[in-house]
Amino acid sequence: MTESVQTELTKDVFVLHKTSFNIACLESEALQRLYHETTSCVQNVKIEVIGNGEGRRGREEHSATTIGLARQRPVIEIADWLDKGQRIEAIAHELAHLLLVYRSGLGVVGRRVPRPGDSEDIFRFFMSMRGDWVYLLGQISNTTHHLILIDLLKQEYGIEGDLHIYLLHQNFCVAANDNMRDKESQYGMGLVAFEYERLIGKFGGTIDVDHQSEFFWEAYHLAQKHFGGYGFRSMPAPSAYEGNILSFLEALGYQREDFMFFPEGKQDFRSIT
Ligand SMILES: [Zn+2]
Repeated sequence: MTESVQTELTKDVFVLHKTSFNIACLESEALQRLYHETTSCVQNVKIEVIGNGEGRRGREEHSATTIGLARQRPVIEIADWLDKGQRIEAIAHELAHLLLVYRSGLGVVGRRVPRPGDSEDIFRFFMSMRGDWVYLLGQISNTTHHLILIDLLKQEYGIEGDLHIYLLHQNFCVAANDNMRDKESQYGMGLVAFEYERLIGKFGGTIDVDHQSEFFWEAYHLAQKHFGGYGFRSMPAPSAYEGNILSFLEALGYQREDFMFFPEGKQDFRSIT
């Protein structure tokens, strides 16, 4: 009896928290056009609504996330608290990420696997990755993409990026005042600061600049050097993009050989926001 009740509850919770979503109900021609252009580059793009704060990563807040990039079966997950206009923005934002990955060849950077071909080994490797690695590498792909896609959406589709700008501000304020962060996370924050300056403006009044670490500033200045020229009208070629990211990581003290770009392999471990 108890067991069957619990099973039913579990099912209900699952159904309530994750439901597939049809963009037609948003009545946005621009979004439909973007969706069709994206699905002509990568098929099987699914959109799902996630409930009850599942879109949050720690204390940060995200309106949407895309998973399944590497196996070319992307699922866009949008938060249930978004209103109609925000849903259009959030889905368009994720679709633009997919366009950059699959049409423009600007893939997502990840750690190189230790023994290609050994799926068990690969799985263990990625499962052992610390969360801060995921944050730093995810932020590299996010920030480089955002410098391009905010203007791409505005100019090609007339879709604003207000929601992204709002969340960038909110999450930057929260994360920059978190003193417990490790080296990779502080590098990631330096990237966010660089993105903030490019998309919003000076951040001196937003966070306590005197108490940011040397890692924060190192990544901030290196991001300016390696990605400062990125924009919708100055999109890098895939080879230049990958070279810039590897040089950025090398300048931070990592080995270029330890990284690779997805989709290329078969493992699916990363998401973009
Ligand atoms: Zn994004």
